[in-house]
Amino acid sequence: MTGAPPFHAVEIIRAKRDGGELPGPAIDWLIDAYTHRAVPDEQMAALLMAIVWRGLSGTELATWTAAMIASGERLDLAGLGRPTVDKHSTGGVGDTVSLILVPLLAAAGAAVPQLSGRGLGHTGGTLDKMESIPGWRAELSPAEMRAVLADVGGVICAAGAGLAPADRRLYALRDVTGTVESIPLIASSIMSKKIAEGTAALVLDVKAGSGAFMPSVEKANELARTMVGIGAAHGVATEALITDMDTPLGRSAGNALEVADAVDALRGGGPPDLVEVTLALARRMVVLAGLDAGPDPADILASGAAHDAWRRMVRAQGGDPDAPLPVARHTETVTAPATGYVRRLDARAVGLAAWRLGAGRGRQDDTVSAAAGVRWRAGLGDRVAAGQVVFELATDDPERIPSALAALDGALEMGPTPPAPRRLVLGQISS
Ligand code: URA
Repeated sequence: MTGAPPFHAVEIIRAKRDGGELPGPAIDWLIDAYTHRAVPDEQMAALLMAIVWRGLSGTELATWTAAMIASGERLDLAGLGRPTVDKHSTGGVGDTVSLILVPLLAAAGAAVPQLSGRGLGHTGGTLDKMESIPGWRAELSPAEMRAVLADVGGVICAAGAGLAPADRRLYALRDVTGTVESIPLIASSIMSKKIAEGTAALVLDVKAGSGAFMPSVEKANELARTMVGIGAAHGVATEALITDMDTPLGRSAGNALEVADAVDALRGGGPPDLVEVTLALARRMVVLAGLDAGPDPADILASGAAHDAWRRMVRAQGGDPDAPLPVARHTETVTAPATGYVRRLDARAVGLAAWRLGAGRGRQDDTVSAAAGVRWRAGLGDRVAAGQVVFELATDDPERIPSALAALDGALEMGPTPPAPRRLVLGQISS
């Protein structure tokens, strides 16, 4: 860049701080300058905080998202011979849906380019889970990714550095400046990556509840509508399901533990709630991909075809689907204090406990333990007897156990009668 910059970051910050509308060219300049380090983190952090308070108008958000997409490459997935469709979850606890869904849609005849991230905070990351499979490799070149996609019909891998690089910097900055929880910032972050990845269709799993970024269904709906609108504006057929994340999904939170749950589901078993959410998303994906004349996803799962696709997908990235998964060196159990029904199991508390046991990271560059996590032996609505094991904690480092136990204190509420049946799918947003 030569000469004086066309805009001043301080003026842009002041304008947003005072509730003004940012002109499109100012947003384009800012995202480009931040990506190229011509605008420093402290100025961008101030603007992000102003956006958390003031929001972005529809026009501003459209420009902001387009500028983030334009900060890198947009993959071209034409010519695969299969319709492309992807899914994105806004993040939850025990949410190992992608591991089942990607091979399931591959078996249905789609191509699923699942470019994933790692977990941060109390929510798990798909790549961390997959990396607990011995030998499995997350980093693929664009050519390798395309080859797996064409061959198997599904790929789970790390998003390359060339994809929405503005988001890479912005997300890391938001994480350390308390500016994650903003609907326009979350929507533009997720959608810029998904649009750049080149999928033709997208189903969003927007989580609502204690374990989600959006605790209320109203906020989750607003986030879903915002993302569906961005997808439509960029020619990506997008829909969203709002799903419950007050209670964790499945029976475990932790990398290898969740892989085991996913493999059980691919073999025709697995936790029923995990399977139900997976099938609800899969049914919308086959519709958007134009594959709904084929067999129902439940039948594909039961046939074993999704399990076959999983094995091929794992092998294509160096993994051994038959290798034993890592097991933690230490375990600790928690028992029920009284007899009764499980009336509440708090997703955030369980996620936090798994994170404290070593399943998650506190900083982007921390390593995670593959074996650490929490398994709950009793789910919502189950009747348990006093003294029965309700939680099993697994870790390589026993010093982590007391703080994980503290996180679980009060996570389980019991009572003499069962709770109302759990509704897993709370809403649907289409464009
Ligand atoms: N996931 C993302 O990719 N971005 C966000 O802002 C939140 C969740």
